[in-house]
Amino acid sequence: MAAELEFRGLFRPQAMRQLVPGSWYLGFRCQSCHETFAILDDPAGNGEVEPTGAGVIEVTCPVCAAANRYTAGDMLVFQSATAMAGQEVTPSGG
Ligand SMILES: [Zn+2]
Repeated sequence: MAAELEFRGLFRPQAMRQLVPGSWYLGFRCQSCHETFAILDDPAGNGEVEPTGAGVIEVTCPVCAAANRYTAGDMLVFQSATAMAGQEVTPSGG
C-alpha cells in the first residue's frame, strides 16, 4: 500500500544533482527539455509513495535551468539507475 505524500501551497525545492544509484526519488520531467530530475528522496525508500494534494511545486531544472511549475499529479516516483541526472528512468509501476 502506497503512502500518501501531500503537497499544499507553493513549494520551492532545489533539484537534486547527486543521485545514489538504486535509491528512490521524487521528481519531475522538465516541461522544457523533458529530462527527468529529482527534488526529494522517497520517504518510503521503496517507490511506494503517492504524491497528492493541490500544491504547486516551482523548481528550476538542473539540466536546462528552466523554472517551471508542477503539481503533485506531475510528480514521478523513480529509482535512480545511475548517478547522473537526466538519464532514462523507470517510473514506478505501483
Ligand atoms: Zn529542463
